[in-house]
Amino acid sequence: YDDRDGKIWMDGKLIDWREANVHILTHALHYASAVFEGERCYNGKIFKGVEHSHRLRNSAQLLDMDIPFSVEEIEAAKYAMLKANGWTDAYVRAVAWRGAGEDMGVSAARNPVRLAVAGWEWGNYYGDAKMTGAKLDIAKWKRPSPETIPVHAKAAGLYMICTMSKHAAEAKGCSDALFMDYRGYVAECTGANIFFVKDGEVHTPLPDSFLNGITRQTVIALLKEKGIRVYERHIEPYELEGFEQCWLTGTAAEVTAVGQIGDYTFEVGALTRDISASYEKLVRS
Ligand code: PMP
Repeated sequence: YDDRDGKIWMDGKLIDWREANVHILTHALHYASAVFEGERCYNGKIFKGVEHSHRLRNSAQLLDMDIPFSVEEIEAAKYAMLKANGWTDAYVRAVAWRGAGEDMGVSAARNPVRLAVAGWEWGNYYGDAKMTGAKLDIAKWKRPSPETIPVHAKAAGLYMICTMSKHAAEAKGCSDALFMDYRGYVAECTGANIFFVKDGEVHTPLPDSFLNGITRQTVIALLKEKGIRVYERHIEPYELEGFEQCWLTGTAAEVTAVGQIGDYTFEVGALTRDISASYEKLVRS
């Protein structure tokens, strides 16, 4: 993805896509000192862009990093990047990381914190499965305990097991993997949160060991507006058998229907289609 035309915003200015490089002794590359955001611009407006910029700064803070740009400056960077590439509909990726410093130890107190904002045109993350129902594998890795790692940061280090689990899922013909958490409760997928429907009510895991997605919060608000009861709670794996519908939420995933998790199957039902349409309408309004 490095050899193409386009512009990327890096450390305060727009540069050519091919010039947006870092040195091999970048701290983040060795020690995962990086945080990022995934956002979508619809019809020229980034959905909840300010919330994403705040989350980026908070994620950095959780890793002891202070991004040298304000929320307003990050917002301006995103729109400058979109304009320079001529995009009104695109995925936006902001990333902050510890750069190269005076030595190469674990301590990075004197390494600069850097920021880049890139983007690309991206359809739904799960493609056609969005409406037909994605097939999920169950990951062998677990979402870690909040005492182990800052689980609420959107930090690069938390994605190591996501890539491994996604590869294992793809090898089995699945689109993604569902993680249980360190206690064995149902948690989230490698880049999306999960919801279930039973008897007209919605159940979703309590985000106490993983990212409380912005799309997740948006969808909960939409469901409540529709008068649908939502239970945020610990969900045991055996409960999967009793759920009728299932969907995923995420900036890249939007609202994606799930048809199968391991041996359990789900219908792409009316509520799944309704909430997917409501989300689509909201982000474009
Ligand atoms: N969990 C993980 C691990 C993710 O990568 C994402 C995507 N950012 C989400 C959940 C959903 O978050 P959001 O709705 O804010 O995109």
